[in-house]
Amino acid sequence: MALNAPPTPSGIRVLIVGAGFAGLTAAIECHRHGHTPIILEKFPELKPLGDIISFAPNSSRIFQRWPGVAEKLEPRALRPDGMTIKSWLGETLYKQMWSREEEEWGIRFDGHRGEFHEIVFQHALELGIEVRLGAKVDDYFEDESGAGVLLEGGEQVKGDVVLAAEGVRSKGRTTVLGYEDKPKASGYAVYRTWFGTEELLKEPDLHWLIAEGDKHCAWLGPDVHFIAASLNGENFSWVCTHKDEADIGESWQWEAPLEDARKVLKGWDPLVQKILNRTPSPLVDWKLVYRDPLPTWISPKRRVALIGDAAHPFLPTSIQGASQAMEDGATIAVCLRKAGKNNIKEALEGFEAIRYERVKSAQKTGEQTRDIWHKADFAAARENPESLRLRREAWLLNFDAEAYAEEWYERTVEAVRTEGVEGARRLHVMEGTNGYIEYGSLSGTEAAGEPEL
Ligand SMILES: Cc1cc2nc3c(=O)[nH]c(=O)nc-3n(C[C@H](O)[C@H](O)[C@H](O)COP(=O)(O)OP(=O)(O)OC[C@H]3O[C@@H](n4cnc5c(N)ncnc54)[C@H](O)[C@@H]3O)c2cc1C
Repeated sequence: MALNAPPTPSGIRVLIVGAGFAGLTAAIECHRHGHTPIILEKFPELKPLGDIISFAPNSSRIFQRWPGVAEKLEPRALRPDGMTIKSWLGETLYKQMWSREEEEWGIRFDGHRGEFHEIVFQHALELGIEVRLGAKVDDYFEDESGAGVLLEGGEQVKGDVVLAAEGVRSKGRTTVLGYEDKPKASGYAVYRTWFGTEELLKEPDLHWLIAEGDKHCAWLGPDVHFIAASLNGENFSWVCTHKDEADIGESWQWEAPLEDARKVLKGWDPLVQKILNRTPSPLVDWKLVYRDPLPTWISPKRRVALIGDAAHPFLPTSIQGASQAMEDGATIAVCLRKAGKNNIKEALEGFEAIRYERVKSAQKTGEQTRDIWHKADFAAARENPESLRLRREAWLLNFDAEAYAEEWYERTVEAVRTEGVEGARRLHVMEGTNGYIEYGSLSGTEAAGEPEL
């Protein structure tokens, strides 16, 4: 199928619960592939919520297929040349450069979640996609011929298939699993903030971080890391992942006084103290919960699928949560087109098998980086600075979810028929001698980016 050819209508009505990046991507991609998406979002109005978010080359290529969207994201995206990594006492240990990665795999879009979200949301509206705000889904149902949702207030909305893209607190998960899946505390939380640079610019020692082009700088300490980023000399964001035993649910929106972060970062690099001195209170304290990988993302009658965080929440150190949510949307749209309206079951089984092992492997990268950073041995890092680098690997980042689904769909559904779900998932296991490795140029885990101090 030519990428921007007008789609042949499939007649598939796709209900999508949630207008985050998973839901919006699924809707836009379903529209591109000829389906009829309808988004149901509980928020009564669009608000520019959140702070910094990252879209790696594997998802930025999805944005680039949407006419006009990448052009709107670009002026609002951070463009640092790399990320400086320092010890908590301020010693510069390593600088991970982005240039080779960008040349070989494509650009990233890192920026304000609310601003990016608004651009994508507006694009969906411009395409004429039906978006119902203030539509809170209370329950799901399915039978052999279709699926639907029950909205708060009692209205039923029906479709051929429902994509539950409602984030970490998904209700669709209970429909899919048949039981309520309880999150576990991960033992970590993240203080986060985004603010204007006026006050920071009063600190001459911070000028290099703000006024000399976009910057990205991480400080690593014992079981804590602090990452600062500046954008266009005007905006500044920092996040600090720290130990946390409290259990206040999965919302990212809890407030914490700046004082709490000061306690965690006591004795750190004077530059960090200067940033803290100029940071407005309160912060967001985002508790990180952990979920074991779900045994399945698709419902018993194969009419409801979980996508995005509803299926697979990510640790921030993977820097892949939003990208994988977008890959889900790009993949399911292809699967539905290839299967057709009378084969929704096949489409959902194919979708899950294509995505399942890739997502699990991507999730693991978040744990690896967190462990490397939080247990950093600085003496060893001086000998081998590259050991501190963020894991940025070709199999994950130099990946085109749409092209992959186009290429692998038929073999995958055949494997579901002949070998069952597990067998079909194995087709896509990474880093083995399997089909995945045969795909295009994805021939290994070589990292891009030269060490440069
Ligand atoms: C308000 C908000 C701010 C965020 N800020 C950041 C950030 O600053 N940095 C970052 O890295 N990540 C942030 N995230 C998380 C990040 O967007 C996701 O991890 C990632 O993009 C995957 O997106 P998702 O679409 O799967 O889930 P989400 O982004 O969580 O989107 C889920 C959507 O579903 C809606 N929804 C939930 N329940 C229902 C229901 N019952 N009926 C209808 N709609 C429902 C929610 O309102 C939301 O719009 C934020 C998420 C939200 C919701």
